[in-house]
Amino acid sequence: MIEGASQKIRMLEQSPATKGQFSEFVENADWQEVTRSHQEKTEQDVLRALSKSKLDVDDFAALISPAAEPYLLEMVAKSEQLTLQRFGKTVSLFAPLYLSNTCANECTYCGFSMSNAIKRLTLNQTQLGKEIEAIKGKGFDHILLVTGETNKVSMPYFERMIPLIKPHFSQLSMEVQPLDANEYKQLQGIGLDGVLVYQETYRRKTYLEHHLRGNKSNFNYRLDAPDRIGQASIHKIGLGVLLGLEDWRTDSVMMAHHLRHLQKRYWRSRFSVAFPRIRPCEGGIVPKSVISDRQLVQLIAAWRLFDRDLEMSLSTRESPEFRHHAVRMGFTTMSAESKTQPGGYADDSLEALEQFEISDERPVAEIMEMIRQQGREVVWKDWDPALSYI
Ligand code: SF4
Repeated sequence: MIEGASQKIRMLEQSPATKGQFSEFVENADWQEVTRSHQEKTEQDVLRALSKSKLDVDDFAALISPAAEPYLLEMVAKSEQLTLQRFGKTVSLFAPLYLSNTCANECTYCGFSMSNAIKRLTLNQTQLGKEIEAIKGKGFDHILLVTGETNKVSMPYFERMIPLIKPHFSQLSMEVQPLDANEYKQLQGIGLDGVLVYQETYRRKTYLEHHLRGNKSNFNYRLDAPDRIGQASIHKIGLGVLLGLEDWRTDSVMMAHHLRHLQKRYWRSRFSVAFPRIRPCEGGIVPKSVISDRQLVQLIAAWRLFDRDLEMSLSTRESPEFRHHAVRMGFTTMSAESKTQPGGYADDSLEALEQFEISDERPVAEIMEMIRQQGREVVWKDWDPALSYI
C-alpha cells in the first residue's frame, strides 16, 4: 500500500503540470466550482444557450444541467439538424483492431488489468495478417488500433506493425498508451492519421483511485497527451471520459474546456469525442455516477450544439435499441461487429481474452440496414489523408 502510494507520488513528481498545456488549466481549476457551474444553471441559462449559434463552455454546462431536461426534444431536433447541415446523411463505420491485451497497468474498470488472470496475446505478423483479412472481408476501411499499455507493445512494435496495416485501410487511428510528441510525429510519418486518448476522468483524486499501478497512474502525462498529439500535427485527436467514474456532468464540462483549449492551439487538427459508459468486465466496478439513457441523449445533443464540426462516435458498448434511436441524433461514426479481444475477428473462439462485453453484437450487414432505415447512408471512406492539407 505504502509502496503503491509512494510510486504514485513519484509519478506525479515526474510529470508536473506543464505551462500552456491542459494540465496547467486542471491544476488551477476547482472541481467544486466546475460542479456548481452546471448545478446552478436555471431555465434562463438554458434558453440563452439554445438561442445562440456559437456556444461557450458555460452554455454547454447549461445544456447538460437538470434545468435543460424539459428541453430534451428541442435539443435532439436541433442536434439532428446541425449534423445534417454539416455532415449530410452519412455515417462512417469503423472497426477496432485489438493488437494486444497485455498490460502493465491496474485500472479498476478494465478486464485487461495486469492482475486479472486472463490469457494474454500480442498479435504477431501472421496473426495480424489474418485479422486484417477478416476485417477487410467485412468491408471496413477505417481502423482503430487498440492495445494494453506495456513496454513490450510500444514504439518498436508500432513501427513494425503500422506499415503492414496501413496499405489495407484509408484511415488508421490508434488508442494506445500516451506517447511523446516526437513519437507521434514518427508514427504519422508511417501512416498514422488519428489518436484517441481518453482521460477517463479529469478529477485527479478519482483518477488515482482507479489507476492503481503502472504508467497510467501518471495523471498529467495522460492529460497533456492531446497537446502533444496536436504539436505533432496529427490529423485527428479524440477525447473521452469514462462516464460513471465521476460526476458525468462535471467531467463533461472539463472535457468541453479541454476541447476549446486544443482547438485554440491546434487548428489544423480535427476533433472527435466518444461517450463510453462503464461496462461489465473482469473485476468490474459499480459506477459512482450512473448516467441514464435519457441523460446520455441529453449529453450527446449538448455536444453537437456546442460544436457543429465535432466528430462524434458511438460504440458497440451501447445496446442495439439505444444505437437504433441515437444514430440520427448527431453521430458521424459508429463501430460495428466489434471484437475486443486480439485475434477475435479471425477466430471467434477467443472470447476469454476480451476487454469488456459488447452490447450490440449484430453483424455489419444488420447495422448497415439499421442505418439505412434511419435515413442515413453508410460510408466506408469519408476522407483521404492526401487531401487533408488542401
Ligand atoms: S484501461 Fe488500458 S491501461 Fe488500463 S488495464 Fe485496461 S488496457 Fe491496461
